[in-house]
Amino acid sequence: MLSVPEIYQRLFERYGQQHWWPAESAYEMLVGAVLTQNTHWRNVEKALGNLGNQLKPQVISAMPHDQLANLLRPSGYYNQKAERLRLLSQWFISYDCDVNAIRRIDGALLRHTLLSLKGVGRETADCMLVYAFDKPFFIIDTYTRRLFSRIGYDVPESYEHFRLLIEQQLPPSVELYNEYHALIVALGKEHCAAKPCCSGCPLERDCHKTHLNTLNG
Ligand code: SF4
Repeated sequence: MLSVPEIYQRLFERYGQQHWWPAESAYEMLVGAVLTQNTHWRNVEKALGNLGNQLKPQVISAMPHDQLANLLRPSGYYNQKAERLRLLSQWFISYDCDVNAIRRIDGALLRHTLLSLKGVGRETADCMLVYAFDKPFFIIDTYTRRLFSRIGYDVPESYEHFRLLIEQQLPPSVELYNEYHALIVALGKEHCAAKPCCSGCPLERDCHKTHLNTLNG
């Protein structure tokens, strides 16, 4: 079975650097991480486009709920997301919007704080930690679970167990975790979707699922 570093190597050789996250500032990244919950990125882009130059923590935290929800409508769950963005913006403002000050916080403590914010679950928190705050926490999402279980890993149900299992096999490098997650998403979109398209997949010759398919004819 391919090791965690070997999978990375194969994906990087195929797809190269992904330049994630697509945001112009740490705050925009945080907003995108909330908006992308349960929707496609193209819908997030529409909502971000609606926000336009109002995409500032002070503006969003002060905006009337209905107005904000209406702007977020394309991203779905817009009432929930409006509330979450308002709280997230207030939290960001409590650090004077100083990203470097937040980056100086210990990673585990910062993760704990993010997880205490309404609507920020583990996957969202780890995305924020990697892509906005330069903290190495491996991100587990649906693509990650699908890929590793198809490759042949015994994937733990628990997010934390799975995250630690992968982190034990990698150096704690934020650049590596940044790239690895983006590469898994690239593979998930091109090949390892809910219905896999294995032909031409860079992991095809070593994938447990491919072998099962071959055995089953
Ligand atoms: S060979 Fe198929 S199942 Fe295996 S990782 Fe690639 S797309 Fe997914």
